[in-house]
Amino acid sequence: MRVPCVRVPVEAGEATRTLLADAGLLDGDREISVEDGDIFVPVTDAEAVPDEYDVVEREAAERTGQVTPADVLGYEPSYERLGDVAIVDVDDPEEARRVAEAIMEADFPCETVVNRASKVRGEYRVRDWEVLAGDGTETVHREYGHEFLLDIAEVYFSPRLATERHRVIEQVAAGEHAVDMFAGVGPFAVPMAARGADVVACDVNPRAIEYLRENARRNGVSEQVTAIEGDVREAAGEYEGWADRVVANLPHSASDFLDTAVALAGEDCVLHLYDIQHEDDPFGPGERAVRDAAGDEYEVRVETRREVRSYAPHELNVCLDVRLSRV
Ligand code: SAM
Repeated sequence: MRVPCVRVPVEAGEATRTLLADAGLLDGDREISVEDGDIFVPVTDAEAVPDEYDVVEREAAERTGQVTPADVLGYEPSYERLGDVAIVDVDDPEEARRVAEAIMEADFPCETVVNRASKVRGEYRVRDWEVLAGDGTETVHREYGHEFLLDIAEVYFSPRLATERHRVIEQVAAGEHAVDMFAGVGPFAVPMAARGADVVACDVNPRAIEYLRENARRNGVSEQVTAIEGDVREAAGEYEGWADRVVANLPHSASDFLDTAVALAGEDCVLHLYDIQHEDDPFGPGERAVRDAAGDEYEVRVETRREVRSYAPHELNVCLDVRLSRV
C-alpha cells in the first residue's frame, strides 16, 4: 500500500523519526524503508508534517514484527548482547550515540548500551567501558541453560566463548574432579558442576570469586563448587595430584602456569589449554610448553587442536585438549 513518507538522508533518519514520533505523526503500522542513502518514514498525516520536510508517496509494508535497531537506524548496527547490556564497538562518538539510541528504542529488553573504551587488560582481564545509554553494568547473562550474574566493569566475561565452553563442558562426566584455574564468574565451573563434577575454581579477582559463589548458588551447584580466591600457583596447592580435568583459560600467559597445571593433574587428566599464537604455528608453542612442563612424569597426547576464534590480524585464539597420563 502507498502511504505518505518523509524522505531524509539516512544520517538524519533517527532525529527525524524521533521528531515525527514526538509530534504524533509517525505511522507505527508501516515499515520504515531505506533506498539509495535515503530513509522513508511513514507518517499518518502528510499535511501536518513541517514544510521543511520532503513528503513522498511510497509503498510501505504493514509492520508485523518487532522494531529492531535496523528499523530505527536504517542499517544493521553491529552489537553483542550480554544479559540486558548491549555492547558496541564504535569509534565515532556521534555514531556511537545514535546506535545506542536505536538499540534502546528497539523492541527487546536492553537496559544499558556500552562502548568498548579499552582493550581487555591487567591481571583481572577487565576492559574499560563508556556507558552510552542507561546505567549500571551489572547484568544476568544466560548461557546454555545457566545464568550468570556479573558486572562487566569488574570481571571478565565473553559471550563469544559460549560455544567453546559448551564443547568442553560436554566432555565432563559425573564424579570427575575438575579444576578451573582461571574461573572468572564460573562459566566453565558452574556447568561442569551441573554435569556432576566436583569442581575447584580459582580466581585472583575477589569480585569474580564473589560472583562465582553467587552463580553456583543461583544454579543449584554450591555443594559441588569450591571457590578459591588467589593466585592459582599458590591457592590451589592442596589439590595437587587431584584433577581429572584442568581448564586453563588465560591465553596470553598460558605458559607461565603449566607447572601448576601439571602439578594439579592426577593419574590421568585432560588439560584444556587456551593460547593465543601466530597463525603460522598456532598449536606448536603450547604443545611444546606442555611437553616441557610434563617432563618424564606424564605421557602427553594432544587429543584436539582447535581454533576457537581469530583474535587479531594473523593471531588465533586456540585450545589444545591434552591428555596427561602418569608414566
Ligand atoms: N574462565 C573464565 C571465562 O571463560 O569467562 C575467565 C577467563 S579470563 C580470560 C581469566 C581470569 O583469570 C580472570 O578472571 C582473571 O582475574 C584470572 N586470573 C588472572 N591471573 C590469575 C592467577 N594468577 N590466578 C588465578 N586467576 C587469575
